[in-house]
Amino acid sequence: MKIETIAIHAGNKIDEHSKAVIQSIALSTTFQRADDGSYPQGYVYSRMDNPNRRSLENVIAKLEGGQDACAFSSGNAAAGALFQSLGPGAHIIAPDDMYHGLRNQILQVFDGILEVDFVDMTDLQAVREVIRPITRLIWIETPSNPLLKICDLRALVKLAQDNNIKVACDNTFSTPIFQQPLSLGCDFVMHSTTKYLSGHSDVLGGVLVTSIKDSAWEKIRAIQVLGGAVPSPFDCYMTVRGIKTLPYRMRGHYQNAILLADFLDKSPYVDKVFYPGLEAHPGHEIAKQQMSSFGGMLSFLVKGGANEAIKVLKNLNIFTQATSLGGVESLVEHRASVEGPATQTPQNLIRVSVGIENITDLIEDLENAFKSID
Ligand code: PLP
Repeated sequence: MKIETIAIHAGNKIDEHSKAVIQSIALSTTFQRADDGSYPQGYVYSRMDNPNRRSLENVIAKLEGGQDACAFSSGNAAAGALFQSLGPGAHIIAPDDMYHGLRNQILQVFDGILEVDFVDMTDLQAVREVIRPITRLIWIETPSNPLLKICDLRALVKLAQDNNIKVACDNTFSTPIFQQPLSLGCDFVMHSTTKYLSGHSDVLGGVLVTSIKDSAWEKIRAIQVLGGAVPSPFDCYMTVRGIKTLPYRMRGHYQNAILLADFLDKSPYVDKVFYPGLEAHPGHEIAKQQMSSFGGMLSFLVKGGANEAIKVLKNLNIFTQATSLGGVESLVEHRASVEGPATQTPQNLIRVSVGIENITDLIEDLENAFKSID
């Protein structure tokens, strides 16, 4: 099956009794045993498994080309389960530019448990230099948040395999529609399904997908089931519903993003645009090799400083000033102030989650907002 067909059918089951075409939300927390004490459908208790979660895990595993998936209550919970599964004393390598909430999780929640080096993953030698005998995981985010850095998945996988290290990729920005890290050799893929997969900014969730079902995966499944950071059946239903239109939404996000990146690139109010679809982007060639499209996220530097960036944001009408990304509506954010005082993100950087409104309206909105800094 091709990806559009998987997105619509792999997370749905026609009800055997009512013949309802759309799978219902099974709210029950517990499931009846047969007379012999067995559980005929395999469901026991909804923290352990339930029909909606199974459908969600099924569709995402298939979209990513993985053997199995574990759904969690948020992207951070999904990533945290993988970090937890490594066990105390493990060393991980993570990117210097990555979602700051996950960087903070590594630094604060796993302080004293895991050792970490944050490196520029576009520089293979820099990654090679921090590998230690206790290194268990290379955590990749490409394109990265918020600088849209592109790292070479194939080269990092090769380096990791030569050193017996697992590789996980946060694929939130690209989605499996544009990038399939497991097919390039990664061991795990992680998503904040809160973003593009659900796609409507109304449900929080996360998922891990594995290339193989081995003992490491069993440990992650145990952390999901016994740790209990699981999504509700309603959350799973909503995410499955969103995924059905994912391939078409992603094309719309990309078509708008490439036009917006081009507009910003030519704008006298803009110092620099970070978008891998632009030929001048340092990761453009690698992006072309490992992504089928450049996605809907971009960042840019407004001429001036934080004041000018904030002025532009205040004068936008269609773009909403809010954190998060991946919904149908366009969002803008002054990233440095969200990330806090320790941020390395430039003060004049605006991150844009390009929505699927009409591009003419989006460009006009920015043109008007730019006039406020004249
Ligand atoms: N990864 C990336 C790239 C993100 O942007 C986010 C959230 O913004 C996360 C992970 C965390 O996901 P969640 O907010 O669902 O926990």
